[in-house]
Amino acid sequence: MEYQSTRGGVSGVSASEAIVRGLAPDSGLYVPQSFPQADLQAWKGLSYPQLADKVVGSFLTDYDPAFLAQATAATYGDAFAGKAGHVEKVRDGLYALELWHGPTCAFKDYALQLMPKLLLQGKKNLNRTETTRILVATSGDTGKAALAGYAGLEGIEISVFYPNAGTSEIQRLQMATQQGDNVHVYAVDGNFDDAQTGVKKVFADADVAAALEKRGIRLSSANSINWGRLVPQIVYYFYTCFRLAEKGAMAWGEPVDFCVPTGNFGDILAGYYAKRMGLPVGRLVCASNENNVLTDFIRTGTYDARREFHKTASPSMDILISSNLERLLYHVSGSTEKVASWMKDLSTQGHYTVDAQTLAAIQESFACGCADDEQGAKEIRDRFEQDGYLCDTHTAVAFRVAEDCRSTAPMVVLSTASPFKFPRDVLRALGAEAPESDFDSMQALTAKTGCAAPAALSSLRDLPVRFTEVIAPAAIREAALR
Ligand SMILES: *Cc1c(COP(=O)(O)O)cnc(C)c1O
Repeated sequence: MEYQSTRGGVSGVSASEAIVRGLAPDSGLYVPQSFPQADLQAWKGLSYPQLADKVVGSFLTDYDPAFLAQATAATYGDAFAGKAGHVEKVRDGLYALELWHGPTCAFKDYALQLMPKLLLQGKKNLNRTETTRILVATSGDTGKAALAGYAGLEGIEISVFYPNAGTSEIQRLQMATQQGDNVHVYAVDGNFDDAQTGVKKVFADADVAAALEKRGIRLSSANSINWGRLVPQIVYYFYTCFRLAEKGAMAWGEPVDFCVPTGNFGDILAGYYAKRMGLPVGRLVCASNENNVLTDFIRTGTYDARREFHKTASPSMDILISSNLERLLYHVSGSTEKVASWMKDLSTQGHYTVDAQTLAAIQESFACGCADDEQGAKEIRDRFEQDGYLCDTHTAVAFRVAEDCRSTAPMVVLSTASPFKFPRDVLRALGAEAPESDFDSMQALTAKTGCAAPAALSSLRDLPVRFTEVIAPAAIREAALR
């Protein structure tokens, strides 16, 4: 399997190189040059780790098969408490794919528990021996998932920058208590954009690269434009369809619809790859919060980022530039020239419009909708009161949108975070007072719902805080050079 840039600058690239480099040299994203075809009959009886081995192996053809079998077994066994790809019935025809049973209680664990192993092996495949220093700007979930994935790995260092006072108490403590000699965590005196802009500047700074090169260090990123983060997410679409067919939710070979709470368009795009590999996926419903730039795009073909940024109760979906959409544009238009020109329009003018054929191809696979915080809160309450199902603020947006996009096929909502990661918002949605402290709110949420908080979150209260440093945005460069 070979990879090329969405903007046409390079082709014939190995998976190892795509994963180690992250971004293509022309600033495009690496995409596979063809879609491997699934063997549904042979795959349907596999365990989650075995299925992950098949799916990942069909894309990472330059990796040693024995390594992939070992890596997927080590990742999706115990770390997910036997609940990798767990599907819960909410009511007839409606299911939740619970993706938060990993170590940091958000779906990003599926990618970030495996990707570090893929990166290390990719470096070996390419005979590269430098130290990789990973810089992450995070609004919360990515930072902790990346820390948990990269902590303690040989030849890797990771520094995470999060907005001071911009995360929940739980999210902050998840990062500030991280163990490992190769990790650093900084609070940035500013908002998420300040942290992200600071990190992007460091990546673009040739002096930083040269200074680090002398010390045998190369910078890399852990964000979701890396192919190594996307490919592990394809697995759970297959796994879900197999489990639903087993339960008799639909006949074998009949389609399943998925509704995905979306920010950077990585998670939902993985569903599109599954479809192109031959899985009978019906509609892929893109659910957005008040930052509904994707809803408008999928309806009209015009992507317009020139709009107000809303801070919402589903912060991991607060995104105006949805990076992975570029991959979809390439796959449906088949034209690197068109993609390059749309992306140029986006960066210079803040908007672009695709042609009618491209829009029609997108609408053939994707539906969309959006919900604001009030609708999300009502959805949390309705799902709990009517179905006895407790969900977080991101998943609630998808439940709301799924309701308007039902077909005759079973609908699966991707549940992307544990409700106990956002205990105050969830409690308030249920009509209760939320105590100031997240930990008190977790206890109150358990008392109200009978649902237990994941131990990984409730135990944070007793862990020693290792990182307390607050730095100015301008000091990110210096921190990256340490
Ligand atoms: C990251 C995240 C999302 C959005 O996923 P994308 O792949 O960026 O679209 C949704 N929900 C939660 C809880 C997340 O952490």
